[in-house]
Amino acid sequence: AAKRDGGGTVRWHTPEMKERVLHRASMEVRLRRAIEHGSFELHYQPQFETATGRLFGAEALLRWHDGDEWIAPDRFIPVAEETGLIVPIGDWVLDNATACAARWRDSLPYPLRMAINLSPRQFWSGDLLVRVLAAVERHGVDPALIELEITESMLLRAEGDHVAALRTLRQRGMRLALDDFGTGYSSLSYLHRLPFTSLKIDRSFVAALFDDDGNYGDGAALIPAIVAMAHSLELEVVAEGVETSAQLVHLSELGVDLHQGFYSGRPVPEAAFVSQFVAADRR
Ligand code: C2E
Ligand code: MG
Ligand code: MG
Ligand code: MG
Repeated sequence: AAKRDGGGTVRWHTPEMKERVLHRASMEVRLRRAIEHGSFELHYQPQFETATGRLFGAEALLRWHDGDEWIAPDRFIPVAEETGLIVPIGDWVLDNATACAARWRDSLPYPLRMAINLSPRQFWSGDLLVRVLAAVERHGVDPALIELEITESMLLRAEGDHVAALRTLRQRGMRLALDDFGTGYSSLSYLHRLPFTSLKIDRSFVAALFDDDGNYGDGAALIPAIVAMAHSLELEVVAEGVETSAQLVHLSELGVDLHQGFYSGRPVPEAAFVSQFVAADRR
């Protein structure tokens, strides 16, 4: 980003570029400190079975509390990804989300599934398999209660070893979800080649179910096609980002298996998850 001239001074191409590089550098320092000080937290967003309305599980979502500021994952995960800090952070997420799954197994009358997001760098780090299995074994959690969420961008270069790692995880009973489906590239070939168990319809499709006037939008044509395709491949379908009852009613008619979104529950800390969503569950 910066060029050195003969005198050894750094010359920035544009003020914006300088701003960005400095921002990134300070973010990296703060992220390193956050890892040392343990300033991360997981929040859990409930997932519900569409047909019955029952609580089915949770997606673990990373939160970073820096000083008195909450920083959204979309702001710090790209930096963590570029700097490689996502690997230790991702290990922390795996450990804490599986620990939570173990607490729920011990304290709740029925099992809840835990969905955990992976980032590309973790996926490519080579020992993903070992890291994931270690977390599950450390906490004695049934692998069938863990779902790893993978995005299409991770699969662009997937071959040999990575495919084998995913297959091994699947053979151990772990579930694999393709996250943000529909926002990436050749989705169909991934679904065919890799041992996915679930497909998460990106929230942009859900948002496009209805237009501003309440008429059917593009999502109303696309979602049934996605559901039909996923079900024919025996994949479970999860709708993300459900914000209104009208969306939920329509998704239910379209046969979406699970849903999550602000309409039925925002991501909250573990204690609030139990008091709000487990306590209110119909079972
Ligand atoms: P994602 O995995 O697709 O997670 C869903 C995001 O949508 C979450 O944002 C969630 O809070 C948000 N969301 C849920 N329901 C609704 C809704 O009804 N409307 C709207 N507008 N948004 C909704 P969040 O927590 O900010 O996370 C953003 C992204 O950051 C995640 O997208 C995921 O890609 C990444 N991320 C979050 N936690 C982790 C993590 O532990 N590890 C990794 N590698 N990535 C993570
Ligand atoms: Mg996700
Ligand atoms: Mg998603
Ligand atoms: Mg996303």
